[in-house]
This record gives sequence, structure tokens and C-alpha cells, in this order.
Amino acid sequence: MHKPHIPLDELRAQVEQCHRCPLAEGRTQTVFGDGNPSARILIVGEAPGKNEDLKGVPFVGAAGHKLDALLEIAGLAREDVFIANVLKCRPPGNRDPRPEEIEVCTPFLREQTRTIDPEFIVTLGNFATKFILKTDRGITHLRGRLQHAGKFKVFPIYHPAAAIYDHSKQEALEDDFATLGELVRQSDAEKAAAAEAAREEAFACAGQGKPHTGEQEAAGTQPTLLDQQLTLDDEAASAGEQQGLSTDGESTAAQDAANQPSDQGREQA
Ligand code: SF4
Repeated sequence: MHKPHIPLDELRAQVEQCHRCPLAEGRTQTVFGDGNPSARILIVGEAPGKNEDLKGVPFVGAAGHKLDALLEIAGLAREDVFIANVLKCRPPGNRDPRPEEIEVCTPFLREQTRTIDPEFIVTLGNFATKFILKTDRGITHLRGRLQHAGKFKVFPIYHPAAAIYDHSKQEALEDDFATLGELVRQSDAEKAAAAEAAREEAFACAGQGKPHTGEQEAAGTQPTLLDQQLTLDDEAASAGEQQGLSTDGESTAAQDAANQPSDQGREQA
């Protein structure tokens, strides 16, 4: 049985009241997330910075301007996406999130993801990528390559703030956002082709006097093969709730072992 989705307003109110970790003491306000509540693309960053803590909105200031410019490269705008962070309160001095903070805060991100139910999750930087994909591999290895976590298509990219301090990452960021735009357009084309094929099949059946099945009638709105393979049911979600959103952690780990050395060291992104 599927768990009902919690409305975003209700989740936001829970976050605003949250004192599960010591970051509550130092915050000006929580940063729940912002954007289209039915977004096809969920962007997940790390944690609020100084400006976000003051305004209560993710990605404002220099990193926000950079993200807007990068979204434009993908053919997207803020209204097309929902932006959230792994942590909802600012770590002091913009230090890295601690494991215990991630553990107690990420149930909010999981519920946001379930409610928004995006097709794509874009993870910005190491913390978001490692949490969503349940992996130790760093962003340098994973960026720009489509991954999967349950039914979600996951696309890791450097954090835009990384390019503010390291200009060598700018080109990679632009390339990856361009690829993201291509992936979205490709998915559109595949859905349109599947819908057209279903319409033609229904038309052919009608012409031959054959009844067409319910499956055929609904084919235009059915999940693609990829969606069916990756459907995140509640049982799998419960398993994934131990850590991250991935339900195929074993295969990811096996693939890692076979193909790539794991990243033991922390990477700055
Ligand atoms: S960081 Fe998350 S868990 Fe910690 S107080 Fe803020 S909302 Fe609660």
C-alpha cells in the first residue's frame, strides 16, 4: 500500500518548527525549498548559505545568478524546477554538513521528493549526489552521467558555487546543463513517439473491427519501459530510506567495484 504524499505546505510547516539538530539554534530561518510544486525536475543542493539563511529561499546571491544562467543553457527557468537542499538550516560559517545532521534532516527531502514526484533529480555537488545515489563515489566521477535511483533519473552536476571559486569548473557546468537540456528534450520526444504509436495502434484496431485493449487505450499515458523498470514502490522506498533514495544500491556498488575505484577522499565541489 502506498503511503499518502504529504502536501508541501504541511512539510514546510514541519521544517519551520524543526529542532531535530543543533543547526536550529544558529539559523535566521529555515530554507525549505522553492519553485514549481509539480516540477518535472528537482534540483538538490547542499545547505543554505548566508544569503539563503537571511531570505529563506535557496540559491539567491551569486550562486543563484549562476544557477539561473546555467538553467538557461538547459532551456529551463526557475518556474520549471523545484530547488531544495539536503539540509534546511545553515551550517555555521558555511561548513560542510555533518553526517548526523544529514541523517536527521533528510527525511524532509525524501518527503519533498515523494510529493513533487519529479522525473529528473539534478544533484549539485558531493553531498546531494552521495545522499541521493547512496554512493561513496565523488561528483568528479559521476558528473554529467545519467544515473538512476528507483524510478528517478538522477543527473549529478558540480555545485554552481564551485565555479565561483574554481573557474576551471565553469566549462564542465555549462556542458552538463546543456546535456540536461538534451536529456529533457529526448524524454519529451520518446513520450511523444510512444503516444503516437499507441494512437496508431488503436486506429488500426478500430479499422479492422478489432476491439483494442485497455492497455492499448492507455498506452499513451503509461510509463515508458524505463519508468516501469525503475518504479519505486513503497517496499523499495522503505529499504532505500535507510540511506539515500537509491533502490539499486547493490548493482551500483557492484558496478563501482567492477568499473571504478571508489572515492575515499572528499572532493570539493
Ligand atoms: S537542519 Fe534540518 S534537522 Fe536540523 S534543525 Fe534544520 S530542519 Fe531540523
